[in-house]
Amino acid sequence: MIGSLSRPPLLIATNGAYGERLVEIATRLGLAHRVLRRSEVVAITPADLDEALHAWPEVRSVLVVHSETTTGLLNPVPDLAAVVAQHGKRLFVDMMSSFGAIDLPDLAAIEAVAASANKCLEGAPGLAFVLARPASLRAAAGRSISLVLDLADQWARLEKDGQFRFTPPTHVLAALDAALDAHAAEGGVAGRGGRYAHNRDRLCAGLDALGFSRLLPDALQGPIIVTIREPEDPRWSLPVVYDQLVAAGFAIYPGKLTSAATFRVGCIGQVFSEDLDRFLAALAAILDRLGITLPTPTGTPALES
Ligand SMILES: *Cc1c(COP(=O)(O)O)cnc(C)c1O
Repeated sequence: MIGSLSRPPLLIATNGAYGERLVEIATRLGLAHRVLRRSEVVAITPADLDEALHAWPEVRSVLVVHSETTTGLLNPVPDLAAVVAQHGKRLFVDMMSSFGAIDLPDLAAIEAVAASANKCLEGAPGLAFVLARPASLRAAAGRSISLVLDLADQWARLEKDGQFRFTPPTHVLAALDAALDAHAAEGGVAGRGGRYAHNRDRLCAGLDALGFSRLLPDALQGPIIVTIREPEDPRWSLPVVYDQLVAAGFAIYPGKLTSAATFRVGCIGQVFSEDLDRFLAALAAILDRLGITLPTPTGTPALES
């Protein structure tokens, strides 16, 4: 999407590891860019973007991550899109970890979004896609510096004879087809996103009750993944807890992406509230075994969907 459709200079708004990846991609592609960098515990705001676009009027395309999977934070893409449109620029959105679970009400204000088969669509890894308008794709003909990742070329070929230019990932496509049926059967974006939000609420309430401290305030917490601060107790060891969770049948993210000492638990995939209850019980048993008593929570913050 960046190499085929965006036009430099770019403005990349980042508040996490995936925003930084956009910067890395732009750098590798040799695309001139400015970076609007915020801490990973605050959202990119319309005011931030407005200020940056006033400061750098030469910018043509704006890039932002919707669900920043580093922390689980949701950036307010509809509000950001309005600012980008006011400035007459084009907005490109990384919807990798939100597509299929969170609706964007107004795609008219967005130039293109990128996502993949393997996150909220619950397909197999190996296939990424971009939603863009035919006019943008036509205007992008011959611009990509990559042959393989040339979206305009791929689109033209698919329009012409329904073929991929190179060997298609047939099994992954078949799996995505089945995954889309399952997605529709669950009630589409609302059904899928509703289950994830329910998972998130269950997980957050359980973690709060155990005395864990979550990285994000509820207002910024999306439904995809939850980031939890590591307890300060000297008996806590993430590798030990991780191994014991694996032994109990749960795989969490083994490492942290944030600058704070944290671990993450996902709410997506074939995961249901009973699984989260079993997970929370396993985590409580591990704390018990390690002799860790977390501070009693002073009150569970209100949960928002
Ligand atoms: C997972 C993810 C990516 C990268 O996806 P890969 O399949 O690992 O390349 C990019 N952006 C976001 C927001 C993601 O969650």
